[in-house]
Amino acid sequence: MSASGRGTFFLETFGCQMNEHDSEKVAGLLLARGYEQVETPDEASLILYNTCSIREKAAQKVFSRLGEYRGLKSDGKKIGLLGCVAQQEGEDIFSRAPWVSLVCGSASYRKLPELLAKVEAGEQRVTGLDNDTDETFETEITRRDNPWRAYLTIIEGCDKACAYCVVPFTRGPERSRDSARILQELKQLADFGYTEVQFLGQTVNSYADPSARKMRFSELLMEAARVPGIRRVRFTTSHPRDFTPDIIEAMNADPVICNHVHLPVQSGSTRVLRAMQRTYSRAEYLEKIAMIRGAKRRTAITTDVIVGFPGETEADFDETVSLLDEVKYDGVFSFKYSPRPNTPASSMADAIPEEQKSRRLALLQERQRAIQVQTLRSLEGEIFEVHVDGKSKRENSWYGHSSCNRVISLNSSQPDLLGQYVQARVAGCTPNSLLGEHVL
Ligand code: SAM
Ligand code: SF4
Repeated sequence: MSASGRGTFFLETFGCQMNEHDSEKVAGLLLARGYEQVETPDEASLILYNTCSIREKAAQKVFSRLGEYRGLKSDGKKIGLLGCVAQQEGEDIFSRAPWVSLVCGSASYRKLPELLAKVEAGEQRVTGLDNDTDETFETEITRRDNPWRAYLTIIEGCDKACAYCVVPFTRGPERSRDSARILQELKQLADFGYTEVQFLGQTVNSYADPSARKMRFSELLMEAARVPGIRRVRFTTSHPRDFTPDIIEAMNADPVICNHVHLPVQSGSTRVLRAMQRTYSRAEYLEKIAMIRGAKRRTAITTDVIVGFPGETEADFDETVSLLDEVKYDGVFSFKYSPRPNTPASSMADAIPEEQKSRRLALLQERQRAIQVQTLRSLEGEIFEVHVDGKSKRENSWYGHSSCNRVISLNSSQPDLLGQYVQARVAGCTPNSLLGEHVL
């Protein structure tokens, strides 16, 4: 039991940055309710899992973790499942794991206080699975993990209909937060000492201000960049179709807006893009890349790719590899296609055998590694501003990110660089990061 008598909670998170940030908000809500956060399930009276179901492996991991908690209910502990697996599996979870007493999807988090009250009162099967909402998850307190870099969700859910993706089913329809509330939260963050913010959304640039101000996404970026104390504004993930020239104009106008765009392409083949219902062709995507390349500052571009989508031929796959050669991404997150329940692609014919997917994935990753090393080597001698957010085990060694989101480790004789912005000259690289020297 915590000092306040409410109880203790352990919260583990699987999945994307949005899940991480949802967990920060859930933790804030529990703290405000008088719970105390603990580091292990053993110490907790309430165990919560915030889950991911984007690929089958991620969902399986959740069930194997849940299996470890069989028997804990008889010790008086309450167990709850949150997030995408909770939404996807719904009440079936109670039959699969009867030791679970709370199942709640992200679109119902705003109801968590009342759901928790029921769990506390001893109810056995409490659910929050309402997905059809126009409301967002607003909290008084958010317990953020990083003291300098804050996540801030500006848009929840997704209205796109990519044929492979569970997100529209698990996170519900698109809901944008009021621009005034976003900016107010950002000002509070700056008052707490945060200097860097990352705006989050599954399609962050589809932001549509519900208030009378009708602020555009690019205007919101510019307003955010003007908040005193804020030195960096990032945003992720951008959908190519909604990536408009005014976003680049905003980035050009204010260097506080970071020079990095994460623009998932998924495939280099227009035929596959059509089957995926991505709403753009290879040529249209490349127009967006050309627009970003035309920005005043050299802007890093990263992407997501899926290999082995149903019907993907060797020629389609070659087009994806050639796209990597053409764009020369600064980073690629690549995945083997994984059929997901409720999605149109799960019933498509012409599934690609697992070995074929693995082979394509390995080929793609090898190609990208070579491209990245070439780019990183070309940066030798350049100076980057690094926001330091970690100390490595080695003496006098620190790491952080540049505005363009490159990981840079640096040597410095200074006693403490945590949270600071320093200049670093690139002296070398690893396949994924830069090695620098502190420029005093
Ligand atoms: N909303 C973002 C977008 O539109 O790109 C990202 C959503 S998802 C959390 C992140 C990535 O997971 C996607 O960009 C896609 O590459 C990958 N992904 C989604 N569904 C998948 C599936 N069924 N199989 C394999 N990868 C998948
Ligand atoms: Fe999924 Fe597509 Fe929405 Fe991204 S845009 S969350 S991939 S449906």
